[in-house]
Amino acid sequence: MTGVRELAFIRSGRLAWRDRVRPVLRDPGDAIVRPFIAARCDGDTLPLHRPVSRLMQAGIALRAIDPVVGCICGRVPFKGPFAIGHECVAQVVEVGSGVQHVRVGETVVVPWAVSCGTCEPCRRGLTSKCATTTGGTLAAYGFGPASGPWGGMVADAFRVPYADHMLVAVPAGVPPLRVASAGDNLADAWRSVVTPLRDRPGGSVLIIGGGAHSIGLYAAGLAVAHGAAAVDYVDDDPGRRGIAEALGAHTFPAQASASRRRTRTLRYDVVVEASSRAAGLRRAIRSLARGGVCTAVGYYLATGTRVPLMHMYATDATLRVGVSHARAVLPDLLAFVARSGYPAEQVTTLTAPWDDAPAVYAARTTKLVLQRDPV
Ligand SMILES: [Zn+2]
Ligand SMILES: [Zn+2]
Repeated sequence: MTGVRELAFIRSGRLAWRDRVRPVLRDPGDAIVRPFIAARCDGDTLPLHRPVSRLMQAGIALRAIDPVVGCICGRVPFKGPFAIGHECVAQVVEVGSGVQHVRVGETVVVPWAVSCGTCEPCRRGLTSKCATTTGGTLAAYGFGPASGPWGGMVADAFRVPYADHMLVAVPAGVPPLRVASAGDNLADAWRSVVTPLRDRPGGSVLIIGGGAHSIGLYAAGLAVAHGAAAVDYVDDDPGRRGIAEALGAHTFPAQASASRRRTRTLRYDVVVEASSRAAGLRRAIRSLARGGVCTAVGYYLATGTRVPLMHMYATDATLRVGVSHARAVLPDLLAFVARSGYPAEQVTTLTAPWDDAPAVYAARTTKLVLQRDPV
């Protein structure tokens, strides 16, 4: 039996195709899918653009990095080679005898984390903390062997367990490129603005961008599309500010925004911290209006990151941190995109042929999407 090709992270800046055994159905609830669109998660740029594995190992040993990081990406984080990629749109090519709803040929979004759909955390919407699939670390595609045997999504084919629960059909009429990132970053943006705006209709929104590149931009567009009174987007990168403006946000470089806030003391009902920096996190919290909520979507690796708790007490602020539970929000998110035509593809800054993945996956661009023809 012939193998399949999957994209492997070798080391910072270096990727290659590798052969792996062709995936087969193992359980009656499994499906085999063939991805034809894959997007690069913002988090993937961490090991791609910097040789972080040794630094992180040393940081954990010295306790400069919180050792709990090992519970997310393993005790030896981001050590190549491993199959990378965990955002895709795929076609179903085979289903097990127990699969009832998913059909061969269907176009689906595959969430980044593997979940069963029936355990207690899954029923509460904490699908990325599924009690059935997760052991000491996450169960996920594209993070290496510590997060399970699932492989990466930039692959000719891969196996999906609990297919009836895991696979969410792309609604008719939605261009697949539009939802390339729905399995992770777009869903992350959704929970950071759409969910909090439900309790604060017409609220004001601030996004501190620049770290989690695409999540910040998706969040800006989603906030505008959900009727936020004002959407301010802060980022030093003019290209990303241009995208945010096209999506309807007001934008500022980080410095300009600081001076502006000194004079106008703006406060926001919803803040998204997407700079992935401790200073950004503190600034995000200090920008909250009374009763506001800040969702931090970056990584804050240091042990004991300082947070202005007394400020939070005084403003009755809420800070949300944690992995995104993409599967839980996907039905709402995809229905919204189908209904509204929300142009998420405007965040994509580079679309490349699938076969070019090893050469382009480490590109220094805001959002990379790989594409090949569906069968
Ligand atoms: Zn991700
Ligand atoms: Zn579960």
